[in-house]
Amino acid sequence: MSKVLIIGAGGVGTVVAHKVAKNEIFTDIMLASRTKSKCDQIAAAVGGNRIQTAQVDADRVEELVALMRSFQPDIVINVALPYQDLTIMDACLECGVNYLDTANYEPKDEAHFEYSWQWAYQDRFKEKGLTAILGCGFDPGVSAIFTAYAAKHHFDEIQYLDIVDCNAGNHGKAFATNFNPEINIREITQNGRYYENGQWIKTGPLEIHKSLTYPNIGKRDSYLLYHEELESLVKNFPTIKRARFWMTFGQEYLTHLRVIQDIGMARIDEVEYNGMKIVPLQFLKAVLPDPKSLGANYHGQTSIGCRIRGIKDGKERTYYIYNNCDHEKAYKETGTQAVSYTTGVPAALGAAMFARGLWKGAGVYNVEQFDPDPFLAELGEQGLPWVEKFDIDLEV
Ligand code: NDP
Repeated sequence: MSKVLIIGAGGVGTVVAHKVAKNEIFTDIMLASRTKSKCDQIAAAVGGNRIQTAQVDADRVEELVALMRSFQPDIVINVALPYQDLTIMDACLECGVNYLDTANYEPKDEAHFEYSWQWAYQDRFKEKGLTAILGCGFDPGVSAIFTAYAAKHHFDEIQYLDIVDCNAGNHGKAFATNFNPEINIREITQNGRYYENGQWIKTGPLEIHKSLTYPNIGKRDSYLLYHEELESLVKNFPTIKRARFWMTFGQEYLTHLRVIQDIGMARIDEVEYNGMKIVPLQFLKAVLPDPKSLGANYHGQTSIGCRIRGIKDGKERTYYIYNNCDHEKAYKETGTQAVSYTTGVPAALGAAMFARGLWKGAGVYNVEQFDPDPFLAELGEQGLPWVEKFDIDLEV
């Protein structure tokens, strides 16, 4: 029996709310966000008076503390933006509440992805006997749990890891992002980075790409990006010699992105406009389609997985583990598209793992540090079935 507070009422929050509401382990559910009306809409769509709602500014620790003191949750599922990770963790420490998120902390004024800020909470969570679960979406999230599963069952030594993320869906818009546009564009316009032989190798933004074949989809141009789970995975699986992350983009998307950058709309610093200060990328977010609104006309599938090469019983082995998720099916169930769905389902399931005592421990954990078995045993029935292939050409 567990009380859960969900913070954030966007695409991912919508899916988390639907999934948590179906799980009897969660006796009391509260959904809180900056705009309460969005929480109310989601609560109404879920129905059955399962979800209470509240307004909270998660940038303000004192507001979070007041909300947590009145609702007294056992765990917070943070699906607001990465900017709020630290304030929510601070409030959890103050109120004795456990924590789970899907994206690592980013400062607003710098697009910089690393776990150091959140790992620095290790001692404080440990001293209070609280658990913080970091990165429990799909990637990061299931990508790391797939890797842990491969290490546990199929390899003595994982040597080469390529996480491959394909969205072959079509939403019919000229340009839109699949999750929060500000966070998404900050991530993609960064320099790329991958890990090789103990070092991080920097690349230009989207400089390295290759065509990869995705199950039920076919060939797609895939671009090397830095992605946050690489940082924790090479630490937690030190046999890894090389770790990379690839994501597919269509030419139309890349052309729009280039123009957005060229005309300065991807800037994250403040500019003067009509006597006020605005951040161009935040303004752009206001005029781009809301990712939540894409679902109604979205067709096609996502395919995200891990391609792994390593050693088992003295022999080299290749292994591919992946999930394909259908945009239309996700929309029918929750009213959102597959990118929100593939993030929200693991977040809700991770919180259930904690509530049932299957994932436990005081301190700050990345998801690959927990037992992958109970999580993957349920992921399929929660809507994200997965497939394994052995000894195939990994193309990477
Ligand atoms: P959205 O922008 O759709 O939703 C974010 C929600 O957070 C909105 O409801 C927003 O409120 C709320 N919010 C923002 N700032 C505050 C604040 N200061 N206080 C309270 N609420 C706030 O984003 P998504 O749902 O697409 O993404 C949610 C999270 O999931 C992000 O952190 C994203 O990085 C992560 N993610 C992780 C993935 C993974 O696989 N690991 C993949 C995709 C996303 P309002 O509506 O008022 O703006």
